[in-house]
Amino acid sequence: MYIDNVKFAKTGQELSGTLDLANLERVQELDNYSGVIEYKLLGSLDTLNRPTLTLSVCGIITALCQNCLQPMEIQIENSSRITVFFNEDQLDSALFTEQDSGVEDGVLAEEEFDVLNLVEDEVIMLLPYASKHDECMGLSYHDEAESPFSVLKQII
Ligand SMILES: [Zn+2]
Repeated sequence: MYIDNVKFAKTGQELSGTLDLANLERVQELDNYSGVIEYKLLGSLDTLNRPTLTLSVCGIITALCQNCLQPMEIQIENSSRITVFFNEDQLDSALFTEQDSGVEDGVLAEEEFDVLNLVEDEVIMLLPYASKHDECMGLSYHDEAESPFSVLKQII
């Protein structure tokens, strides 16, 4: 899905949809993540009249716990503001040089700007690295029936 990102921002357009992680090659290369992400893109001008895209994503993804290898669900919810720049110098200086540029993230002006690629970048940034259950029972969980405690329970 492609948009003219400057026009989209200036005219305050809105776009939303869903994205299935199973269809995202770059996500699948990272790990066996599944789930559906809802996204919403909103165009606007910021206080300095710069074209701006606000991207919101939310959804529940399933990943494998790196401790017990059982599936676990992770809630993802984020909103980020992306400023559109007309050349790379402006983009670089706003992101890396100016201290108070007020810019969180930036992209270049493009007539055929790839929205799904942007959403995918955002999702990849939010994916947990080596996720684990908060209170993981570990692999021993599966052997619980054999533990002396359960045998003891049966006797009592
Ligand atoms: Zn676990």
